[in-house]
Amino acid sequence: MSSKGKLFIISAPSGAGKTTLCQKVLKQVKDIQASISYTTRPPRPNEIQGKDYFFVTETQFEHMEENGDFIEAANVHGALYGQSKRFIESTLSKGIHVLANVDIQGAKTLKKKFPDAVTIFIHPPSFEELKKRLVDRKSDTQETISKRLKIAELELKEASHYEFEIVNDDLERAVNDLIKIIGIHAGDSKK
Ligand code: ADP
Repeated sequence: MSSKGKLFIISAPSGAGKTTLCQKVLKQVKDIQASISYTTRPPRPNEIQGKDYFFVTETQFEHMEENGDFIEAANVHGALYGQSKRFIESTLSKGIHVLANVDIQGAKTLKKKFPDAVTIFIHPPSFEELKKRLVDRKSDTQETISKRLKIAELELKEASHYEFEIVNDDLERAVNDLIKIIGIHAGDSKK
């Protein structure tokens, strides 16, 4: 068994359920850790500093960017997001697998830097269901939801470039599909 961890890159249109899926997988798989991103967006209720994200000001973010701390950074819906290179590299070198939840552009950049990474795209069951989940989640304004849906149309066209595609219709089945993919590539890492 390799002593180095494996990077799993997960993308999905906003609202498809990747946060929900990743949280479940992180609980059920051992030796895996989320890649904690830096962001300038304000925390949603229940989000914890240093667990869900490192929440920083725009000035702090720009300073880190100038120092080359980010492997990739993106402006998504007006907020800045970045993946810390040091965080991913040091986690992998400890033999811990990393689950990186990133947008399409971020996935492309990460895959270039980590060619051994496994890429996985999460689909909503349908466009109507995606809309419903965004509305029911109650975390965005109608305007943001419309923006997210427009972007989702473009994102869904990129899905076939990912090595694996999972439809998040039944949550438990989708979680199991994701765990199977991780298990195949990371050895038997189920608890
Ligand atoms: P993302 O991180 O992709 O933006 P979330 O994980 O926040 O998406 O999920 C969007 C909404 O859809 C949430 O309210 C979540 O509870 C719900 N959801 C996620 N997966 C499913 C599923 N398989 N079936 C029904 N609702 C789901």
